[in-house]
Amino acid sequence: MLRLTVSKFGGSSLASAKIIKKVKKIISEDIARRIIVVSAPGKLAPHSLKVTDMLYNIALGTNEYYWSQLIILVKKRFAKIVNDLKIGIRDDYLDNEFSIILEEMSKFNSKKERVEYVMSRGEYLTAKILAKFFGCDFIDAKKIIKFNEDGSFNQKETCDCIKKTLLSAKSGEKRFIVPGFYGANFSEDVICTFSRGGSDLTASLIASVLEVDLYENWTDVNGFLMADPQVVNSPRVVKRMTYNELQELAYSGARVMHDRAIEPVAITGIPTQIRNTFNKKCLGTSICLSAQSERKSLITGIAARSQFSIMHFETRYLNQEVGIMASILDIFKEKNISIEHTPTGIDSFGVVVASRVLNRHEDDITNKVHESFDLVNITVEHNLSLIAIVGRNMVGKYGVAARIFTAIAKTKTNVHFISQCSNEISVIIGVLDKDVNKVIQALYKEFKKT
Ligand code: ASP
Repeated sequence: MLRLTVSKFGGSSLASAKIIKKVKKIISEDIARRIIVVSAPGKLAPHSLKVTDMLYNIALGTNEYYWSQLIILVKKRFAKIVNDLKIGIRDDYLDNEFSIILEEMSKFNSKKERVEYVMSRGEYLTAKILAKFFGCDFIDAKKIIKFNEDGSFNQKETCDCIKKTLLSAKSGEKRFIVPGFYGANFSEDVICTFSRGGSDLTASLIASVLEVDLYENWTDVNGFLMADPQVVNSPRVVKRMTYNELQELAYSGARVMHDRAIEPVAITGIPTQIRNTFNKKCLGTSICLSAQSERKSLITGIAARSQFSIMHFETRYLNQEVGIMASILDIFKEKNISIEHTPTGIDSFGVVVASRVLNRHEDDITNKVHESFDLVNITVEHNLSLIAIVGRNMVGKYGVAARIFTAIAKTKTNVHFISQCSNEISVIIGVLDKDVNKVIQALYKEFKKT
């Protein structure tokens, strides 16, 4: 039986013809790489725009003149790639494709439909052009990634369509290229997108439905880094990690793979490898269900997200009353507010939520709680960052918390709250936004070797 790999290439691996040629070489080096999923071309220089951002700006405009002026810039980016690849695509090919986009744009009634359609065209055109350059069959993602009429993702129909369309990749030697990030409703007349970075999800869905041998995610770093390289100097590459660790870290702000892309491959246990297009000699990071440690690193990674608030509720005998906490949390539920953490004490508990959400509801929640419970004292702290310290090797070990908090104490930073998940693979601490970088640097220094 032939091995089958789904290889996903992100925007930085497709930004110019020169890089695309590297991608072609990578694909041709392994016959298993027969399903290629692509993003849209990324930034050419640090301050330039990704094609998807250019398309987003176009879609926000309300008149055809604005659209047609800005679309020229996107067309230029694709024209340069096509010319530099010298694949003999005729000049009028792109003219036709962009005329279709403009024509379609004027037909939409809703802004959402227009935005999602236009944003998806980056991946669509990239896959179309590269199908020619790589010699692959183009599969339009609208045929395999399915959304319901209300715009929600339809797992079952997607599974069926992926099997129907791509199953032959398992046995034949033919290569297929699929644009990431978008799909369509059942009748294929409305294009819907995942959230940003969603090409990872397209690839991981295909990998899990077809139960392939490997899912490769090609990007521009040597693998999963133990900490953010913008905060820590040259962080160590993690060689092996588990899906659970990756999920915790991706959710907590580590940027390497879309956090929703982890679940499909984790459920089916498809081995996942993060690779660097610009340094293919480096084997990157392997992610699987349970990972043996190549070294005794207690901490796999550190990640952080900023701009959170904590609302403290305090009342005497809170611990002896039944239902106060549930009733207060219900108020958050009614307002559709996602709660990150609920650190609890004897007579008080806190609710940690994103500041931009709490800002809109703070007064209302306060009033509602006061209406129901006389004794509750409410205070709010803003500008908090949540730092996640994640590691499967922390489980069942003593002394790790002592090292975490000693390292933080040396930075003279006050910890506003602490939360350890029950499976012991992560500890979350809340510090002020202004302190987050120095705390991460101190934790990295403490744990980079062990
Ligand atoms: N091109 C889209 C984005 O920039 C989707 C992706 O790259 O995965 O978010």
